[in-house]
Amino acid sequence: MGILDKIKNLLPKRKPAEPVNNIPKEKENIRKTFGVYCRSKHNTEGDKLCPKCTALLTTIFTKIGRCPYGITKPICDKCETPCFGEKQTKDFLEIMNSSQKKMLLSHPMMTIKHKIQRLGVDYAIQERNKKSTDKQKEAEEKVKSKIANALKSPKSSKSKSKSKSKKKKK
Ligand SMILES: [Zn+2]
Repeated sequence: MGILDKIKNLLPKRKPAEPVNNIPKEKENIRKTFGVYCRSKHNTEGDKLCPKCTALLTTIFTKIGRCPYGITKPICDKCETPCFGEKQTKDFLEIMNSSQKKMLLSHPMMTIKHKIQRLGVDYAIQERNKKSTDKQKEAEEKVKSKIANALKSPKSSKSKSKSKSKKKKK
């Protein structure tokens, strides 16, 4: 963990304003991961992939080219709406997840950058879920206090909430 933290500190804190096309880098990462996986599981040599892995990689690269998210797409192994097809997505995730240690040894920087992207996606999802549960809670609290107020003192005008317009969305 120490190393990861050190590297994180070396990376620029602020992201550039214009969207960066991460697709070439991601493709490179996926291709290398497939290489590492295929070498160890299917006994291929060098950069060559077995026919099965080649077919899967071709499908994936085609799909990435048509990704509805465009160049600002999330990394594929953290995508919430995978487009590779059920079986292909499963195989893809299996390859990406099982090869992380080997990738770290053979392509450390690339793997760490990818890992940080994964963490970023996790963080964004976590924040989004938190926000939505917060909103839900807020809405629930509003209803609860409304009911409580109605029950307590139907005609009291103590509260300052008069000025606040209460939205009713349905
Ligand atoms: Zn293979």
